[in-house]
Amino acid sequence: MNLLSEHNSPEKSSVLPRMSGFDPTAHVLVTKQNAVALVTRVADHKTLDVAAWLPTLTMGELHALRPAIRQAGVRREHPFVCAACGEPVILKALAGHGHYFSHVEKHVAELAGCPFREGRSPSLEELDRMRYHGQREGERHRRTKELIARTLRADDRFAEPLVESTWRSYLEGWRRPDVRSEWAGLPVVFEAQVSNTYPQVVAERTAFYQQEQMLLVWIFDRMPGKAWRTMHADTFCANQQHLFVVDEESAAESERRGTALLWTYTLCPSVRPERCESTGRILLAPFQEERFELVAFHDLSLDVGRQTACLFELSREEHRSRHKILCAIAQAECQLDPVRRDIQDILKTDHPISNERLSAWAALVCAIESARFACAVGTAHANAAGPLNLVYDHYPTVVGLLVYGLQRLGLDTESIRRKAWGERTREILHGRYRGAELPSQHAGSERMLSWLYD
Ligand SMILES: [Zn+2]
Repeated sequence: MNLLSEHNSPEKSSVLPRMSGFDPTAHVLVTKQNAVALVTRVADHKTLDVAAWLPTLTMGELHALRPAIRQAGVRREHPFVCAACGEPVILKALAGHGHYFSHVEKHVAELAGCPFREGRSPSLEELDRMRYHGQREGERHRRTKELIARTLRADDRFAEPLVESTWRSYLEGWRRPDVRSEWAGLPVVFEAQVSNTYPQVVAERTAFYQQEQMLLVWIFDRMPGKAWRTMHADTFCANQQHLFVVDEESAAESERRGTALLWTYTLCPSVRPERCESTGRILLAPFQEERFELVAFHDLSLDVGRQTACLFELSREEHRSRHKILCAIAQAECQLDPVRRDIQDILKTDHPISNERLSAWAALVCAIESARFACAVGTAHANAAGPLNLVYDHYPTVVGLLVYGLQRLGLDTESIRRKAWGERTREILHGRYRGAELPSQHAGSERMLSWLYD
């Protein structure tokens, strides 16, 4: 009989009188002192009530079990873990033969906030939650790991993923990463996140992988509902406002395309048009753009030092948005100084910039944003074409940048090309401007355009 996997109620043989003080057929006594009241048997994910289970064993079985647990522990294959924190536990005994389970490393359980740590006893409600937690969370966790592994296997650029078979428990105690692979020489580990993990645990793992030069990516099995838990919010903010989810659809689509794809929820700092009450002009206001889309893993920028995998840099997007807002104000209210300072800061220069250049730049940005939002940003024009024609009429040294910029950004649409602007676009694409050669375009504005939009 193997107690490390399944325990069938033993049939007790008849007891012969013994000469020694040790009777292997006697039943085990338990103590509640220093006790981890619920343990999970890793092999079958069964959560056992220690006070009820140990007395069903004989002393012979118990003394066979004790070294078996320790030997498996040497191989780092702990057969029993605390049902609360998931840290390995071993059997110990008090003089007088009271037996109990104890964390192998007490300070780790302490750090994980285990309710079975010394000097604290969990409430009955907590104990109940732990008992029922096991099977339910275990199944979700197993399924998420499978979906992650399928996603990685679909993409040749990932090394064959190693999937951890042990199971995490109530507090998401941790021994080894869930899914481990390699991407272009970089070790990447994926942790399935199916319930709450304590911020302390997240911080420790992040620090650990940072030190190991491995990238840790958290994967959720569903989008958090309206009430984001601390864990979701922490993971989301630490990863530049990106959060990853796998499900059947994303895994199947990865397999179909041969590319690892993850559902990616992002909040990207952006702008949106807003009409100024007093002047009636359209300005730009900060806005967090929400997206949930399938993103290819190869499109993510990976940063081991920061432990991030993301599509955009939060601070960069914030700065870009701020700059667009300043351009709209410059255009609408002729306030050029803030834009001037910002450009000098971006280009890292003290070089003076003339008001003429600044007005051209602001008009260029407003024209692009007008095409994007189909309204006349920064002007009192009635429609989106107004700011474009304004650039054509007054700022020939950036009008070529505008035409090529709109094409590159996919904003050169039919509705924009209607009427005069369409004809003007054709003219400029032929390198002409008002019957002559297109003037050379301003190099500084070109650099600024790639900072703002690339
Ligand atoms: Zn524990």
